[in-house]
Amino acid sequence: MNSLSAEHLSQKVVEGSGGDKELSARPYLGKTAVLTTKHGKLNAIALPVKAGIELRIATTTDIDTDQLGTFAGEVERLGTPLATAIQKARLGMERTGCTLGLATEGSFGPHPFIPFLAGHQEVIVFIDDNFGTEVSESIFSTQTNFSHALASSIGELADFLKRCRFPSHGLIVRPNAEIQSQEGYGATIVKGIETWAQLEAAIDTAKKKSTDGLARIETDMRAHMNPLRQRIIRKLAIKLTRRLMRHCSQCSCPGFGITGSEGRLSCSDCGSPSETPAREIHSCQKCKFKESILRQDGLRHLDPKDCQRCNP
Ligand SMILES: [Zn+2]
Ligand SMILES: [Zn+2]
Repeated sequence: MNSLSAEHLSQKVVEGSGGDKELSARPYLGKTAVLTTKHGKLNAIALPVKAGIELRIATTTDIDTDQLGTFAGEVERLGTPLATAIQKARLGMERTGCTLGLATEGSFGPHPFIPFLAGHQEVIVFIDDNFGTEVSESIFSTQTNFSHALASSIGELADFLKRCRFPSHGLIVRPNAEIQSQEGYGATIVKGIETWAQLEAAIDTAKKKSTDGLARIETDMRAHMNPLRQRIIRKLAIKLTRRLMRHCSQCSCPGFGITGSEGRLSCSDCGSPSETPAREIHSCQKCKFKESILRQDGLRHLDPKDCQRCNP
């Protein structure tokens, strides 16, 4: 992992580039942003950002982002994922004195509409204190191994382990119903399991500490343990970079992009209005300039099969 000291970072940040004209067209050339991560997201994010907007990314590895919540649940997450990502990015910026910061935040759970399918929502934020902007993008994907199972031995887990892509993807093991102990909640969680021997030992220990004799085996969703998540983070970094490549036509601030919607598409058959928006609102966070444009996906009418009136 690439770790820079605070001093090193701030030097990189003030290291300038070109004249004013050059700066407005390529505002991030020669600059460095700090990515707050404990879990090795640098590889997924740095390359697309450097290629797209010439911004270098450095990480701070000495910040305990677990204080803002963990997937395993020992620390509860408060606030929205975006709010957590902003807090995380700010921690790194404060620590390093850097005026540019990045962070991502993932959440996992059952798909909102499709039963038995898991969903992964990842949000990324880029804070630029020079422009006074916080640009964010998010992705929802069903390409995730998020899951859990109960077992008393590895033998019962063949299908589950295949679905979870173990051992290329890490696991977490804990007692299913933890016996109260002096150590307190979370003391018996084993994270980052990557080998069969580790898994076997962890299940053995966990089931003995569980009132029902069962171990709870969960997918480890931290980025460095989960290549599927890394892939989504890379896609999201590309999405963010594309947005930062768009500059406001009024004040040339980077990050011009979609912030809302308006209007309603009407059904191509009966003409009645739907809940699906007809136009996208793109705006600039800095000068508040707004543009209303037709949907970029080209959809101009609603398909009658999605119409409440034609197909109730
Ligand atoms: Zn209709
Ligand atoms: Zn603007």
